[in-house]
Amino acid sequence: MNWPPINIALLGGTHGNERTGIIVLQQFIHNPDWLKSYSTLSLIPVLANPRAAERNSRYIDCDLNRQFTQSYPPLTNISTALEEARRSGSYEVGRALEIQEQIGAYTQPISFLIDLHSTTSNMGLCLIIPRETPLSIHLCSLVLAEFPDSFVLCENVLPNEDNTSTHLAEEGLVLEIGPVPQGMAQPIPVQILQIAVRLILQALHELIEDHPSTAPPFPPTPELYKNRVVYRWGSSIDYPRDHLGLPRAMIHPDFMGKDGFPLEEGQALFLDAQGNTLRLEASDFIPQDLILALRALRQKNESLVAFFIGEAAYLEKGIAFQVGYAPLYHKSQKT
Ligand SMILES: [Zn+2]
Repeated sequence: MNWPPINIALLGGTHGNERTGIIVLQQFIHNPDWLKSYSTLSLIPVLANPRAAERNSRYIDCDLNRQFTQSYPPLTNISTALEEARRSGSYEVGRALEIQEQIGAYTQPISFLIDLHSTTSNMGLCLIIPRETPLSIHLCSLVLAEFPDSFVLCENVLPNEDNTSTHLAEEGLVLEIGPVPQGMAQPIPVQILQIAVRLILQALHELIEDHPSTAPPFPPTPELYKNRVVYRWGSSIDYPRDHLGLPRAMIHPDFMGKDGFPLEEGQALFLDAQGNTLRLEASDFIPQDLILALRALRQKNESLVAFFIGEAAYLEKGIAFQVGYAPLYHKSQKT
């Protein structure tokens, strides 16, 4: 990345019913002294989806966090692009462009972007990075040192390949916290998220202060990080569904809340309306490939883990839980 990473955007309310991030954003906006304390940073706080936040709903027309599709360099000027977006009739398509313009990310990516989210799943504090870089590993390691139960989810996406908010920056970090019910803010998750954001901003500020012209030599990847990183596997599992397309089962009580735990062949996943337990075995909703991959990884003391288990917003996306790859298999993960 271009050093120093001065231009930074802090987004909250990308999903309008995730109020944790909105409260943290308000704390920054109403505490100008916080912003001033990071004097090396040009930090722009943004309420990403104000209309959805007002309605306390995830979005108005479509998921804002899938609308950051602008190519770099842009094909048209901003006013033409905004006109086209308005013609699309989607509030979020236009809003994505407005955010780009507001933070200065229309013609080229800004240095760094932090996007604040919450989830109904038991993710604890989860740091999501588009790809591993010396800076992202360093920042995640600092947060892990403060919150050792959190984990890092690496998306493994290339620049320009992504359509989420981090597409707008050379590097980015999404902070998720859960479980938090949709539409609610709760003090403890707010406090944790706020501390994590301030840790990251303070670290960026100090890095630039100490190394104003060239990137510092970052230390080797700490064991703490290696123990807590999960790589997006690329697959997700949907609910078993009935002929109308409705879920015909719930997340099993033994599986609920086990985000970050290694998947075990044969474990309970769902409980159907008749009280039958549906297990992790090849079936109409579990591909055989997943079972074979799980067995192969176990022989290497590695594993697949489940995350975003039962996330309420993913029902419409056809996702009951996501599957990730954990290079080190720790029975105690996320205890
Ligand atoms: Zn979200």
